[in-house]
Amino acid sequence: MALRNIREEGDPILRKTSREVTEINDRITDLLDDLTETMRSVGGVGLAAPQVGVLRRVVVVEVDDRLYELINPVITETEGDQYELEACLSVPGKQGRVHRPAHVKIEALDRNGEKQVYEGDELLARAFCHETDHLDGILYIDKAELVDYDDIDEEYEEDDN
Ligand code: ZN
Repeated sequence: MALRNIREEGDPILRKTSREVTEINDRITDLLDDLTETMRSVGGVGLAAPQVGVLRRVVVVEVDDRLYELINPVITETEGDQYELEACLSVPGKQGRVHRPAHVKIEALDRNGEKQVYEGDELLARAFCHETDHLDGILYIDKAELVDYDDIDEEYEEDDN
């Protein structure tokens, strides 16, 4: 396991589309481990591979002490709407409100290549959407309203993903 450098807004890699994973090998499982370690080192709730400069469809999310390792994630169902503050480890010092589904269902492969289906509400739903967007070169600031450049308080700092 190793910490990886988090790319920041302005780095063109964040705007590229990540490629599907066709074979889950040591490079992919090492990537999952490094994403988790890097996410935890900065107190984030999610991190996507392009944020560490790897254009593969791999993300990790950790909410309520549960770690989700998602390979080739696809959001298959959405329901409702929420409008909450988000922040992004690749966009330091900003936050903004984004419309997201209140509930999402997401399918992905786990590190053993097994298809898994997860469902999330509230923060977990936001994190699934936010991280999946990263794989298509989309940052939350593209969708956010009222992006706030003021100091981010403790409550929202925990929402960095
Ligand atoms: Zn992000």
